[in-house]
Amino acid sequence: MKKISSRAISVFLIAALVITGMCYFVKEDYLHGRKWAMYFSMFNPEAEGELLDRNGVMLAAFNREARVYAKDWPTRVANYHVTGDYVGMTGTGLLTHFWGSASDYDFLHGIKNEKSGSLSLGIDAETNNYAYQLLSQYGKGTVMMMNYRTGEVICLVSSPSVDPAYPVEEPEDGSYVNRALTATYTPGSTFKLITSAAALENVPDLENMTFHCYGELDIAGVKITCMEAHGTQTFEQALANSCNCAFAKITYMNVGQRLMVQYVTDYGFLNGHTIDGIYTSAGNYPTEFVGDPELAWSGIGQSTDQVCPFSMLRYVAAIANGGLLAEPTFLKGGSGEKTTPLLNPATAVRLQELMRNNVTSHYEEEVDFSGLPFCAKTGTAETGAGTSHSWFTGFLQDEDHPYAFVAVIEEGGFGLWAAGLMVNDIFQHMLETGTA
Ligand SMILES: [Zn+2]
Repeated sequence: MKKISSRAISVFLIAALVITGMCYFVKEDYLHGRKWAMYFSMFNPEAEGELLDRNGVMLAAFNREARVYAKDWPTRVANYHVTGDYVGMTGTGLLTHFWGSASDYDFLHGIKNEKSGSLSLGIDAETNNYAYQLLSQYGKGTVMMMNYRTGEVICLVSSPSVDPAYPVEEPEDGSYVNRALTATYTPGSTFKLITSAAALENVPDLENMTFHCYGELDIAGVKITCMEAHGTQTFEQALANSCNCAFAKITYMNVGQRLMVQYVTDYGFLNGHTIDGIYTSAGNYPTEFVGDPELAWSGIGQSTDQVCPFSMLRYVAAIANGGLLAEPTFLKGGSGEKTTPLLNPATAVRLQELMRNNVTSHYEEEVDFSGLPFCAKTGTAETGAGTSHSWFTGFLQDEDHPYAFVAVIEEGGFGLWAAGLMVNDIFQHMLETGTA
C-alpha cells in the first residue's frame, strides 16, 4: 500500500512537472508567438534587388550576402511602415510582402519567379521624412496620401516607428502597427461625410430644409450637444458648422438605421480591403437595433463607430474622383485602369462642393492654406477617456496636385488644430520643395 502511494506521488510529481513545463511553453508561445509566427513569413533568402522611392532613393537593397536599409536614420524610421523589415516584424511591410518566400507576385515587373529586381514605389521618401517628423512631435497617429486619379500612394507614415537597421529589444508600444492600414478609430465628425451621402440620396428636399440648433438636443432623455448654438441652418451650413444636433436629427428622423447600415456597408467601412494584396482592417457600425439616441450618436461618428484610416482615404479619394475609386497601390505609376465605382457621381460632385464650402466658410478663417484648394472635413472624436482623436480628411481640388489624404493624431484634440494644421504643413512643404 505504502509502495503504491509513493509511486502515485512520483507519478503525480512527474505529471506536475510536465504540466508546469507545458504551461511555460504555452506562456512563451503566447508572449513571443507573434515573433515566432513572423519568422515563417521571412524574406526570401534568394532574393536580390532593391526597393526604391519615386525619385530613386534606396529604401532597402539586398543580395545573398547582405541586406541593408536606407543610409540615413530619418529615412529608415519614417519609411519603416512602408518597407517593413527582412524578418517581418510588421505584417504590412513591402519587403516581406513582395519578396516573401511563399508567394510569386507575377503582376510585378522584374521580380517574377526569380525574386530579383528593383521595385519602384510611388512613395516620396522625403515627404515621408517631413511628415513623420511633424507627426511624431504630436505623438501617435498616422498620415496617408494618394493620387486620386491614379491610385498611387505618395505618403504613408505611422507613429511611433522603429529603425529596422538597429531594432531595440523593447520598442515603444505599438511601434510595429501600421496605423493607416490596420488601426481603427472612433471617426467623430468625419463620419458626417457618410451620413451626408445617405441624406443627399434619400431625404427629399434636403437642401431646402432648415435645421435649428439650440446648442443641445434631447432624444428620449439623452442629450446631444454642440460647441455652441448654431441657430437656423441649411444642410450645407449644418455640415460646415459640423452641427451635432442637425446631424443627429437627420440620422434618426430622416435617414434611419436601415439606410445608414446600407451606406456604411456599400462604401466599404465595415469590411477590410487590400492594397497590393496587403490586408487592411474592417471597421464597425451598429448594425443591430439600437434605438434613437444611440442611432443619433452613430450618425455623428460616435457610438460604437470605428473606422480604419485607409477606408476613409478610399472614400474621400472616390469623392474627389467623381465617385470612381482608382484602386490604391504602392507601385509607382498607379493602378492604371483598375477602378471601383463607389459613389453615385452626382452625390460625389455635391460632396466635393460641400467639402469645399467647409474650408472656404470656416477652416480658412483659422488656418492659412496659402491658396491650396482644400476640400475637407475635420473630426474631433471623443475617446470616452476625456480626450479626443484629431482627424482631418479630404483632398486638393487641383489637377496639378490631385491628392486625397487622411490624418489621425491620437488624443490630439481639435481636428483642425492638430491634424488639419499638420496636413496643410505637409502639403506646403511638398509645394516648396517641388516634391508634389
Ligand atoms: Zn449645432
